[in-house]
Amino acid sequence: MADLLTIDEALGLVLSHVRPLASERVPVDDAVGRVLAEAALAAVDLPPFPSSAMDGFALRAADAPGVLPVVARVAAGRPAPRPLQAGEAMGIATGGVVPEGADSVVQVELVTERENGVEVPALAAGANVRPQGGDVRTGDVVASAGARLGPAQLGALAAAGVAEVVCARRPRTAVLVTGTELRSPGEPLGPGEIYESNGLIVASQLRSAGAEAVRLPAVTDDDEAHRAALERGLDGDVLVTTGGVSVGPHDLVRRIEAELGVEEVFWRVAVRPGKPVSFGVRGSTLVFGLPGNPVSSLVGFELFVRPAVLALQGASDPGPRYLPGVLGSPLRRNAARDDLVRARSRRDGDALVLDPLSGQESHMIVRAAEADALVLIPRGEGELSAGDPVEYISI
Ligand code: AMP
Ligand code: MG
Repeated sequence: MADLLTIDEALGLVLSHVRPLASERVPVDDAVGRVLAEAALAAVDLPPFPSSAMDGFALRAADAPGVLPVVARVAAGRPAPRPLQAGEAMGIATGGVVPEGADSVVQVELVTERENGVEVPALAAGANVRPQGGDVRTGDVVASAGARLGPAQLGALAAAGVAEVVCARRPRTAVLVTGTELRSPGEPLGPGEIYESNGLIVASQLRSAGAEAVRLPAVTDDDEAHRAALERGLDGDVLVTTGGVSVGPHDLVRRIEAELGVEEVFWRVAVRPGKPVSFGVRGSTLVFGLPGNPVSSLVGFELFVRPAVLALQGASDPGPRYLPGVLGSPLRRNAARDDLVRARSRRDGDALVLDPLSGQESHMIVRAAEADALVLIPRGEGELSAGDPVEYISI
């Protein structure tokens, strides 16, 4: 087994076959989870004008302390009718335009109302004024090419007046689950049958990576059913199958894919769970064969498919991102394969502690569903101890 590919080698091969997809214009309202193909630039200064950070009074710091007449009230969206003159104050609300002529705002809590105006304490010039362009200037980069747009990035774009962005088109992907034994939840189970779960897992993973995912109907373990379904799945950007990639007589996926013109790039990786994962290409279509056990499929997706789907969209950091943590309890290492152990994370002081879950077998999807982390236990001899540093992928 020493000749099996490592996780990194396999991921390197996958990424080397990715050709980034064409781009399209997308309204920011529809861009959540999309990857920018071009940098998005601010359409305005932000803030667009010097604005007040407080409810209070706008004035010139040089006029404080003192009692100043209040000559106008400024609200958000309602600027002053005229500039402020020396010796004057104007009431102002948070987000109001600091009037021309004023350089500071004193907050309302520090002011005493007098008959002839407001008594204000001394303050520094510029106090409580948010300068125009203090966050970003017109034409500056709000989000770079390759950035994935989450809520904060979308908010930044909207605030900077960007209505449309250029993103890679969404990858078109298909999921095909194989196995004569598979039934959909809701149907009665016959002898030897189990409920199908990989299709939903993988389609959800694909969508969470920004792809459009079509679930093809499950196929039984016979050549004709496989051929027709695989052919259908192969006309998108990515085909993900589950099951049927081991060495059994009913494992048909790789053979039939080869008949359909898929060039295999690798089969089997030194990883647990999920050793018999396959990857190939037909034209520009990426073809992943994940093993049938649900946990193997789930983990294999995170290691190889998610990075590929993100790279197709031009993501600058397709991952997976390994984060530092410490092990919560001892673990025996696997001599031949890197292990991705399902774990729950918790904070302990400064440390992020990873507690391996009981029930690490690859069919135990209910146990695995409690995990929020996949802990990488590099292959080797002996045990890792509680407190040892490890790396993990957040899931
Ligand atoms: P295979 O890789 O086809 O040999 O499948 C390995 C194991 O995973 C077998 O126990 C299958 O019954 C199970 N399995 C395969 N596909 C699925 C699926 N879509 N949902 C749940 N279990 C599956
Ligand atoms: Mg099978």
